[in-house]
Amino acid sequence: MTDTLDIKITKTNKSRLEETDFSHLPFGKVFSDHMFTADYEDGEWKNFQIVPYGDISFSPAISVLHYGQAFFEGLKAYKHDDGKVTVFRPYKNAERFNKSAERLCAPELPEDIFVQSIAALVDLDRDWIPTAAHHSLYIRPFMFSTDPYLGVQPSKTYKYMVLTGPVGAYFSKPLKVKVETKYSRASEGGFGFAKAAGNYAGSLLPAQEAMKEGFDQLIWTDGRDHAFVEELGAANVMFMIDGTLITPSTRDTILKGVTRDSVLTLARKWGIPVEERRVSVAEVIDALKNGKLTEAFGVGTAATIAPIASIGSEGELYHLPDTTKAEFSNRTLKALNEIRYGKVADEFGWNYTV
Ligand code: PMP
Repeated sequence: MTDTLDIKITKTNKSRLEETDFSHLPFGKVFSDHMFTADYEDGEWKNFQIVPYGDISFSPAISVLHYGQAFFEGLKAYKHDDGKVTVFRPYKNAERFNKSAERLCAPELPEDIFVQSIAALVDLDRDWIPTAAHHSLYIRPFMFSTDPYLGVQPSKTYKYMVLTGPVGAYFSKPLKVKVETKYSRASEGGFGFAKAAGNYAGSLLPAQEAMKEGFDQLIWTDGRDHAFVEELGAANVMFMIDGTLITPSTRDTILKGVTRDSVLTLARKWGIPVEERRVSVAEVIDALKNGKLTEAFGVGTAATIAPIASIGSEGELYHLPDTTKAEFSNRTLKALNEIRYGKVADEFGWNYTV
């Protein structure tokens, strides 16, 4: 840990806390009182500040609006019964943030600056952390290029910011998903492993088309042949086939999820066979047909564990067994929550205390 970050804090003179309806928290629409900002100029990070949440203004020529050097992270803070506040595995996100930065030609943000900026912001807005079951404070760090210049080249200046906001459960019901075989999310040699804004822009149309067909989400397949499963919407995907937990191995087309790593760690601890390897669509459909696929679910920070109720592939819809009885995913969600909300000992050191 480096020395504590020198942050200039300007507090709001009118908190929005009282007027916020904590019983109605649509994801990503409610923001806490403050935000963190920093600037990259002349080859260094400077101007560390926490200011009231609000609009920012820029030249319409800033490069991010034209060439999309933008990437982000998503993680959560939890309030324990004794009032203690922890952030789940922030150094993992710091590491991934820098992988995104490297791929997008943006500057590295030292991991301690990433974690301390989050800790300071969450600490200041700790009253915004909801305490109802499955609720938490969503944390959104992001970086974007700010040179007011239309030449196609890496920007020399950047802004790093962090927003937070209270959230409840992301998906309210088990998902009906479609195996996507027309579009792809990422390609070999591309930047699917980065949490680049552009990856999400490109996913909107396929997701919209899937929704028009009555699906909630889609399962991304590889860009070359659409023969292998990659991810589920904005989450990683896992299958329980014949008692073995199977998930696509990470590669440059797949985002290396923090939740994915946490779930695999728990499964291994419990002695459940785990396979990280390429998973073909055919294998999943066969396992569905012969009853060997007992559970399928998405894993991600926003989604936590999102059970899949049915999978559509080539015009057929296959139903999974009752997700309320899904042993592994229910056990995993419970175990993860017990750690995050401080109900059990944090044996893996996943909770960062604010
Ligand atoms: N894949 C994609 C494309 C995502 O957007 C996310 C959400 N960050 C994940 C996987 C899951 O990652 P994590 O568990 O770190 O949230």
